[in-house]
Amino acid sequence: MDAPRSPDTDSHVTLLPCPQCDLVLSVTDPAPGEWVRCPRCRHPLARHTLHDQTSPALAVTALILLAVALTFPYIRFEKNGVGDQMGLLDAATQLAAFHHPALAVVVFATIVVLPACFLTALLWVHASLRRPAGPLPGTAALVRALPRWQPWMMADVFAIAALVSLIKIVGMAEVSLKPGFWAFTGFALALLITVQRLHPLALWAAPPRVPAGARPGLTAAAQSLVGCEQCGQLQALDGHRHCVRCGGRLHRRHPGSLQRTWALLVAATLCCFPAHLYPIMVTTSLGHTQPATIISGVLQFLQHGDWPIALIIFTASVLVPFGKIMALAWLCLAARRDAPLDMTAQMRLYRITEWVGRWSMIDVFVVAIVVALVRLGNLLSIDPGPGGLAFAAVVVLTMLAAFSFDPRLIWDRQPAPDPDAQPRDDNELDPLPRHS
Ligand SMILES: [Zn+2]
Ligand SMILES: [Zn+2]
Repeated sequence: MDAPRSPDTDSHVTLLPCPQCDLVLSVTDPAPGEWVRCPRCRHPLARHTLHDQTSPALAVTALILLAVALTFPYIRFEKNGVGDQMGLLDAATQLAAFHHPALAVVVFATIVVLPACFLTALLWVHASLRRPAGPLPGTAALVRALPRWQPWMMADVFAIAALVSLIKIVGMAEVSLKPGFWAFTGFALALLITVQRLHPLALWAAPPRVPAGARPGLTAAAQSLVGCEQCGQLQALDGHRHCVRCGGRLHRRHPGSLQRTWALLVAATLCCFPAHLYPIMVTTSLGHTQPATIISGVLQFLQHGDWPIALIIFTASVLVPFGKIMALAWLCLAARRDAPLDMTAQMRLYRITEWVGRWSMIDVFVVAIVVALVRLGNLLSIDPGPGGLAFAAVVVLTMLAAFSFDPRLIWDRQPAPDPDAQPRDDNELDPLPRHS
């Protein structure tokens, strides 16, 4: 197994299999700031390997801001002279106090634990790469894990949810933002930029070995080869189950991809019923109790004239989950069709589905924030309802469904690419003829 490499290795030409359409491409190191994209499916494949001091600096900044955000109060809430304030941790602990430990774990893990682990792992990897004595233990496993943690870190979604919560409660009482709020917003931004800069393929030893007889312009499967999803190494799948370069598990296609995706979609569809039928929060004001479902929450925003927020919540909580389930079901059906398809449209649908899912967590985070904040006893308090957990389950299940779907399965049924149509210079991005 090779060690991860220092990011300032010389440029080279190599063969990389596209992880989304399986086409093998001859790739030259791109110019600074440029991505090399697969000409068939437009997936970003390789990036200029940065002499990267910025990512570790951003990671340290983000960790400091997270520590500040956890130490100081987040938002203060006051009504009729009675006030209370919440810290970031209260968003999780109050849910646990109201017998929603699973939801508390989801909130705490996605906004604090995973981002902190990701940033620490990234610092470990960068320290390891610069170590003259060779990489530190566990570096290879961490480089393989970093891209998998990425979609589950939701600090940016939480920051937007905090804004939605403010608009929701600003009419009820006086609200003031505390240092923890600004620190967390800075943390979410620094984390977002750090994640955008991450290019895991660039962290592995260069250049990848080219297996005998491998050629660009054909799919890896057509050459009885497999591309490692973690490090991009092209290799024959003759008996060994682990990548010769990074030690990651090798699969020609995700095992049981379609069955697993269907099962997760059915589970998500079933969870949609309790998610929309049960209240996600219950407001008590002067002894009067009013439960609110996701839809009635949207209608409340509309009644108050906050239609942009109503639109955000409706899109994130209703359109996106249902649209995602239908889009993934369609892609699973398309992967079984032999007829030529408009592959640009299929891949666009797949990528939107993959990208958009985590934003549905907005409503869950809004519940976590208002439940922690609005605690003025009989005067005014908001408790979590059973719909919140079911809705979080819908979001997690649809995200898992999107990750278990292997987009190469749709391409496998399409006519094979013409090997002579591979562009001379991949960086110019001349697309191969598309089948429509
Ligand atoms: Zn591709
Ligand atoms: Zn590998």
